[in-house]
Amino acid sequence: MSVKLEGNIFVTGSNRGIGLELVKQLAGMTGGDTHIYACCREPEGSRAQALREVTTQYSGKISIIKLDVSDEDSVSAAVQAVSKQIGDGGLNLLINNAAIAKPTFPGTLAATSKKHMMEVYETNVGGPFLTAKMFLPLLQKAAGGNSAEMHKGDTMSCRRAAIINISTYISSMEKCSENFHLAQMYAYRTSKAALNMLTCCLAEDLKTHNILVTAIHPGWVRTELGGSKAPLTSQESVLSMLSVMSSLSNKDSGMLLDWQGTTIPW
Ligand code: NDP
Repeated sequence: MSVKLEGNIFVTGSNRGIGLELVKQLAGMTGGDTHIYACCREPEGSRAQALREVTTQYSGKISIIKLDVSDEDSVSAAVQAVSKQIGDGGLNLLINNAAIAKPTFPGTLAATSKKHMMEVYETNVGGPFLTAKMFLPLLQKAAGGNSAEMHKGDTMSCRRAAIINISTYISSMEKCSENFHLAQMYAYRTSKAALNMLTCCLAEDLKTHNILVTAIHPGWVRTELGGSKAPLTSQESVLSMLSVMSSLSNKDSGMLLDWQGTTIPW
């Protein structure tokens, strides 16, 4: 699998799970012209220890940015911190990875409250909405800054300017009857279905700016969210997702793909 990503890359929820692995692999496989903005809620806290270690290992290549995606002031402060550092190139790739699933599995109707619904929506939809909206000027800078020649006929790519929303297979309405009883997860499923619509709206809105917007399902992955029975490791999932991301072009904007690049129906 070949992975060709570069430039300024921003990853939310990167202190553990899939987000941490995205940062690790991106740092390991990209050249010196790549800089990774790795976000987490508490950069100094014990839950960010692994991320701090990766940052030390790849000295100068990763900046840790404090970010709670559900808090508008926090997103605004992150934009300011990144803007100070990023230079003329702008932001090439924004990966909206941070998410929550509440209540705990299986998240039945009886176990789910309105508070759960609102809290999950705020993080899983409000978060990607705010980051996309508030980082748009930096993405536009990157989209306008590169020559068409560099992109070999395709006007959109993750090397130029892109938003990747990490979604899930269980957001698919068409597939709901197949998998509902495996994981009911009312709040999580509905939030990710809304994230898919956000992906479609942004793809439509931003295509004139040459900004690609695609949703990707990482597979069922062994993390705190995915649980210990999941078949994929975060290493396997991320390696495959990064390969998919590096191959995305105009035709993939506004789509939901899985970690192997297969289209999932809405
Ligand atoms: P984890 O629970 O392991 O990690 C979630 C990450 O999101 C953590 O870094 C967490 O930070 C962060 N986060 C949560 N809320 C916020 C917030 N308000 N602001 C900033 N960061 C926040 O999840 P995964 O790594 O498994 O999931 C990553 C993505 O993949 C999610 O979008 C998830 O929906 C998706 N996904 C995962 C699957 C799986 O099987 N694992 C399957 C399908 C999709 P903190 O440590 O501070 O809580």
